[in-house]
Amino acid sequence: MSNEINTDVLIAGLGAAAYSAALYCKRYQIDTVIVGEEFGGETAIGGMIENYPGQPDIDGFDLMMKFKEQVDNLNTETFDSNLKNVEKISDGSFRSTLNNGEIFLSKSVILAMGRERRKLGLDNEEEWMGKGVSYCSTCDAPLYKNKEAVAVIGGGNAAVEGTILLSKYAKKVYLIYRGSKFFRPEPILLEILNNSENIIILLETQVISLLGDEKGLNGIKINKKINDQKHINLDGIFVEIGADPRLEIPNQLGLKLNSDSGEVHVDKHQNTSVKGIYAAGDLTDGTDLKQTITAASQGAIAALSAYQNVLNFKVNK
Ligand SMILES: Cc1cc2nc3c(=O)[nH]c(=O)nc-3n(C[C@H](O)[C@H](O)[C@H](O)COP(=O)(O)OP(=O)(O)OC[C@H]3O[C@@H](n4cnc5c(N)ncnc54)[C@H](O)[C@@H]3O)c2cc1C
Repeated sequence: MSNEINTDVLIAGLGAAAYSAALYCKRYQIDTVIVGEEFGGETAIGGMIENYPGQPDIDGFDLMMKFKEQVDNLNTETFDSNLKNVEKISDGSFRSTLNNGEIFLSKSVILAMGRERRKLGLDNEEEWMGKGVSYCSTCDAPLYKNKEAVAVIGGGNAAVEGTILLSKYAKKVYLIYRGSKFFRPEPILLEILNNSENIIILLETQVISLLGDEKGLNGIKINKKINDQKHINLDGIFVEIGADPRLEIPNQLGLKLNSDSGEVHVDKHQNTSVKGIYAAGDLTDGTDLKQTITAASQGAIAALSAYQNVLNFKVNK
């Protein structure tokens, strides 16, 4: 077809994993396109990043601009539309279609579409993201050093771990869960939780609304009375109720998923279960540490695998 664009590798996503993959692919001198609608991924909307080596205290958006500039300087072609569909064709390469109808033929595809954070679904939740509402305690806990009180919402391991981490920074941490017991917590973590003097556990408790003003969140209303009040004054809340990997394309391709986490299963080379398809970053089960640095690292590794596939493809055709 005349409107099909040929390339060696197509990379889906505009986050840390995707830009890092693009950087390495370009340096391997293979034809590379990167596609996506929303610049920067979670890093760009996560506020201050304090744990990216070499870039202390940088706004996430600015950090991602640096990723993008480095890739743009290598003349990487970026297409401003999300990947809609990928199909394997008879010679072992892939036909990828974007939402805007553009079609690409590539020997390798790197999927770096990240995941969708589960939200509480309350008024002002998105507006106050970065202003008292966070979805990542590993990332943002230090910002609450010496603050009076924060709350973690959730009942899984991430919520329990986040609470313990936050208890080292904030003076008081509420752990709020709607269930009657925590979901598969590690016993050692429960022990720490129960022995911490500044952690208050509220089970069978639901957050009904977020309270605040133009500066952001300053409290929550819950369905129970605490000290005769149904609201708690807070400096911040951490919503740790899980995240769903973006699986539309992986499911189209029939990629193997991790049976526990539902993430795209990858090996140490970022190979998925389909030859020629690689995955990197938060979409994958490559690591439990979902961070900008691990996403970037996986993107680089995926690029090497994609490059080797391109070389093999050229040799064998
Ligand atoms: C509030 C918050 C604060 C954080 N703070 C920190 C921190 O301080 N330090 C740290 O290291 N980490 C932090 N993180 C975690 C970090 O942001 C993520 O681990 C990292 O962004 C993962 O990168 P990724 O490229 O895998 O995915 P993402 O950053 O999620 O990027 C995925 C990209 O894919 C795009 N996409 C989705 N669907 C498609 C499609 N069909 N086609 C093409 N593109 C698509 C998305 O629009 C996005 O651009 C934070 C996360 C959050 C939510």
